[in-house]
Amino acid sequence: MSAAGQHILVYPFPTSGHFIPFLDLTHRLLNRRLTVTVLVTPNNLHLLDPLLTRHASSSLHHLLLPDMDPLPAPNLPARLRRLRDLHYPALLQWFQSLTSPPVAIFSDFFLGWTQSLASELGLRRIVFSPSSSFSYSLNMSLCRESLRIDDPQAENQTLSFPDIPNSPKYPAYQINSIYRTYKDADPDKEFYRRNWLQNLESWGVVFNTFSDLEAIYIDHLKKEIMGHDRIWAVGPVLGDDGLDTTNRGGSSSVPFQDLVAWLDSRDDNSVVYVSFGSHYVLTLKQMDVVASGLEESGVNFVWSVREPKASQVSRDHGVIPDGFEDRVAGKGFLIKGWAPQLAVLRHRAVGAFLTHCGWNSTLEGIAAGVVMLTWPMGADQFTNTKLLVDECGVGIRVGESTQNIPESSTLARMLVESLDGSRAERSQAKMLSEEALNAVNGGTSDNDLGSLVKAINEIKPSTGSNKI
Ligand code: UDP
Repeated sequence: MSAAGQHILVYPFPTSGHFIPFLDLTHRLLNRRLTVTVLVTPNNLHLLDPLLTRHASSSLHHLLLPDMDPLPAPNLPARLRRLRDLHYPALLQWFQSLTSPPVAIFSDFFLGWTQSLASELGLRRIVFSPSSSFSYSLNMSLCRESLRIDDPQAENQTLSFPDIPNSPKYPAYQINSIYRTYKDADPDKEFYRRNWLQNLESWGVVFNTFSDLEAIYIDHLKKEIMGHDRIWAVGPVLGDDGLDTTNRGGSSSVPFQDLVAWLDSRDDNSVVYVSFGSHYVLTLKQMDVVASGLEESGVNFVWSVREPKASQVSRDHGVIPDGFEDRVAGKGFLIKGWAPQLAVLRHRAVGAFLTHCGWNSTLEGIAAGVVMLTWPMGADQFTNTKLLVDECGVGIRVGESTQNIPESSTLARMLVESLDGSRAERSQAKMLSEEALNAVNGGTSDNDLGSLVKAINEIKPSTGSNKI
């Protein structure tokens, strides 16, 4: 057996969509014999369990740092700032207390401030992007140019990005308000922008994507944005290679065997899986349309329904309509809480996925070879929709946030059509799935992972100087 590799610190951003893929990637790095310390907070400690049972205690360690206090309202920039204030001094102290500290800080793209920390310690920083290289390019443009939309009402004006391959265009409402400046400067937004731009100074960037899917954007980042080749596309990382994926990211809220038995009793490609991610809660109107559409369509479905957390409860949040569950009995399987999404998507009975197009869901759907019914709600999801529908031909547009909510009869028709075996999207989805699986099984993503590990193993330990 070869000698153990170098030691790195892995620092995921503490939400499901960022944590899950980073742990999947950590599993692969451990399989390639790196030594890893994962920074976790008490809320996420349990997510390490599958890795702890799989890897030797000499190669996998964890560093427990406190969670920040909950904020009264969701505000990403303020959260990022609090996390920096809480973890920067603790991390500095931790590194300085070790005789042979990790040689690199491998941290989520939301943790741009770890670049200053790495620099202070004389270490390399590697960025992990849990989003596509397409949306990473867009974020760079938005942060560099500090988009000015002076009139918050002008939601339908079109914004163009000619510097990005394929010159994408977006209606203003699809651009997150974080990137907009109105008349008054906002210190939280300014912090977000500077924090993001620190990713430009990193030593390298790792994407959960694959070359066949995003070659032009990866190339753009290498040549136009970063100016070097230390960009690695290692995805889709889906926790395979010996990890139990049934409890990925959380324990299933329904007995797994019951769900599998239900799916086993259905024909191939006859079920639609419905989920809008780990935290988005449907509005009243969206919920009514989804429920009515499913009911009117008569298709078999598994629906992972998210109920609001205390901080998300509002007069506008949707609830499952009265009597719905009885009316769809035998046709629908509802999961209230955490769904074993990856296992559901991979079941032969599932043929289509009604999704908000979060990047993980996008990759999981692609790898499973299902037709994607797209209904983006925010963040990078509009960009992911463009990729699925316009560039890959595996998606069908259904809705857009609250701006474009389909009639329930239209949704019902699309649900039925998505299971039609003769649709072009189905054959295209099968081809793309093969490309995705080939990439991680000896193909381009496997090669990139190999060269990432090699590059890390070649880093000379820090001499304590301030600059690399
Ligand atoms: N997920 C899951 N069960 C759920 C909800 C989400 O396993 O009930 C997983 C899903 O498979 C994906 C991640 O959580 O890996 C959600 O990430 P995504 O980027 O799709 O969306 P987000 O939740 O960040 O909006």
